[in-house]
Amino acid sequence: MKIMKFGGTSVGKPERMHEVAKLIVKDKEPKIVVLSALSGTTNSLVEISNSLANADRNTAKQQIEALEAHYQNFIEKLVKTEVALASAKSIITEHFEFLHIILKISFSEALNKDILAQGELLSTKLFSVYLTEQGIEHALIPALDFMTIDNDDEPQIGSIKVKLAQLLQRHKDRTIFITQGFISRNAKGEVDNLKRGGSDYSASLIAAAVNASVCEIWTDIDGMHNNDPRVVKKTVAIEQMSFEEAAELAYFGAKILHPASIWPAQFYKVPVKLLNTLQPEARGTLITELAGSVGVKAVAAKDGITAIKIKSSRMLLAYGFLRKIFEIFEKHRTSIDMITTSEVGVSLTIDNDTNLPAIIQELEPFGSVEVDVNQTIVSIVGNEITETKDVMQQLFNALKDIPIRMVSYGGSSHNISILIPKSFKVQTLQLLNVGLFGLE
Ligand code: ADP
Ligand code: ASP
Ligand code: MG
Repeated sequence: MKIMKFGGTSVGKPERMHEVAKLIVKDKEPKIVVLSALSGTTNSLVEISNSLANADRNTAKQQIEALEAHYQNFIEKLVKTEVALASAKSIITEHFEFLHIILKISFSEALNKDILAQGELLSTKLFSVYLTEQGIEHALIPALDFMTIDNDDEPQIGSIKVKLAQLLQRHKDRTIFITQGFISRNAKGEVDNLKRGGSDYSASLIAAAVNASVCEIWTDIDGMHNNDPRVVKKTVAIEQMSFEEAAELAYFGAKILHPASIWPAQFYKVPVKLLNTLQPEARGTLITELAGSVGVKAVAAKDGITAIKIKSSRMLLAYGFLRKIFEIFEKHRTSIDMITTSEVGVSLTIDNDTNLPAIIQELEPFGSVEVDVNQTIVSIVGNEITETKDVMQQLFNALKDIPIRMVSYGGSSHNISILIPKSFKVQTLQLLNVGLFGLE
């Protein structure tokens, strides 16, 4: 059994969906096909939700109508026969009737999650209609029947495994299963999701649950590149990397993978392949336990970072100081990304400042607290880079004109991270492309 996950651009146009259908019938291996929403849909649903949260029903209504028109056009080109078109139309009617109904009820967080779920529900159902029209046998298995998360938003892999096995068992005669990425059910039984970009995470969890032979992530680029292609002109695909390297890159900003999407595959030893729907024959990136080579592989950047510096004369010679600081962050359920210490102070970073005012208030008795928002973590990732000759020298040479705020070295042997003001991100990534990879 293998997993094939197709992202938004891979299903975003009718002709792309036709290509996906060709890709899934290329071999006979049983497969679970995980689909994202059509590209742009989740963003539109977020906007609809925001309009409703602001009690701006008129705008929400217009946004819903525009999205519905987009789907009407989409199905006209997706299917040919009257029967298929009628099925596709009734799916659109069902989901957009729901969206029109919510215009009349009061907004809540639970409703927001229901709204966001419509994208993946629509894409999978429409794809199923197309497969049926093409005579491709398959079964549609609802993610909301097996993908569960607990009170801490953590997926419950044990229960996912059992429920998914039962669902597959119900369709013993089928070898192609279609399901939704991104969406899940929470501990209260409500519709929820695995956060933006979460379809990769769904795919990896499903791969772990069925002990898949491979988890294929099909997207719009030929694998993990050495640098962010949205920022830097010349980037190259990496053929092979380890789970650790991929997890660091995903966590520290490489958008091609959801930050949490590597651990399930790593834990259950399922190889992950990053492949390009627009260029299916390209080699892509293979992610396994093996790094393939030593040295710098890629850099990534993560925005929206807040740096906090606590200066305290009491830190001098005091044991237990760091524990007390960390406990404050733990109490406010805020995780720390980077940390550096000196004899008189500690600097750390967080990527979620929802509870920052309360955190600062509790930190103040320990000393002076300085906060810098709008920072970016740039991570340099590669197998054993901390032991690789000249990396630090190359790094500092390349970035001699960049105001580096923090450096984290040695936390693991495959990551060096620096903190910079976000305004220097583009320049930093470009300089590293030349300094570390020799690419202009
Ligand atoms: P999908 O909709 O298929 O999930 P995403 O947009 O989430 O696709 O991820 C693919 C995009 O990730 C690419 O188009 C690329 O712009 C971006 N990206 C950022 N960093 C990297 C990287 N290091 N390697 C490859 N792609 C990257
Ligand atoms: N559709 C969701 C999003 O846009 C999930 C995904 O595409 O992975 O965030
Ligand atoms: Mg994605």
